[in-house]
Amino acid sequence: MNNINIPENVDVAIIGGGMAGLSAAASLSQMGVKNVAVFESEKLAHCDGSSFGESRMYREMYSDPVLCKLAKESNKLWAEQESVSKYSLRKEHGLLFYGESWDEETIEGSIPGAQKVMDEQNIPYEFLTSEKISERFPIKPKDHFVGLFEPSAGAILSNKAIENWIQIIRNNGNQIYEGCRIKRIDDKNDSLEIIGNQSVSFDQLIVAS
Ligand SMILES: Cc1cc2nc3c(=O)[nH]c(=O)nc-3n(C[C@H](O)[C@H](O)[C@H](O)COP(=O)(O)OP(=O)(O)OC[C@H]3O[C@@H](n4cnc5c(N)ncnc54)[C@H](O)[C@@H]3O)c2cc1C
Repeated sequence: MNNINIPENVDVAIIGGGMAGLSAAASLSQMGVKNVAVFESEKLAHCDGSSFGESRMYREMYSDPVLCKLAKESNKLWAEQESVSKYSLRKEHGLLFYGESWDEETIEGSIPGAQKVMDEQNIPYEFLTSEKISERFPIKPKDHFVGLFEPSAGAILSNKAIENWIQIIRNNGNQIYEGCRIKRIDDKNDSLEIIGNQSVSFDQLIVAS
């Protein structure tokens, strides 16, 4: 950390070099914003961060209509990214959501709730009985279970997405500082204190840590 040459001022400081911080920095870079700096306390996409690994599922199959709309918007943005990236960023293979048919909402939603929202928002899906699920997939659900299959859902190739964003950030002349832990946000002086007694002032701040 002591050898890192930190600028005195940046236009946009971003704390955290996971998917949220890097995608924000890449979007700003693509919009032509200069003097953007990402500060990551560890290595980028390190194994203790939430963004570590090869894939993350994406779907529009949510019981909450707002989440469903957000997922639709997000899929448009992924498609835009893919149109200018040399990498494949997603793999569309469909997703099966199966289990009890009751309408109690869990952290992942509920099957009747997701079905209602998908009907309202015209999202294609198949309704599957337990028997149909075991014909199509290598699982044997309980007899009373039901499922929804969303064919256009799939997996985000998260490590490729991260590689893609890093290139966009660097190719546009913006900076990523690894091993650079932010100790304190000084909101009176709009500056960040970095471990090792360095500091950087900013015009705008994004916290993605
Ligand atoms: C096992 C697992 C499976 C998941 N599956 C899915 C899925 O299928 N679909 C889905 O949509 N989501 C999924 N998620 C959630 C998704 O991965 C996270 O929401 C996303 O990766 C969060 O990204 P992030 O950038 O906010 O956080 P992180 O990737 O954790 O990045 C935050 C970064 O901030 C850094 N940091 C922290 N403090 C400081 C500091 N003081 N100074 C500098 N840097 C700092 C950290 O080191 C870290 O690198 C899953 C998460 C996990 C863990």
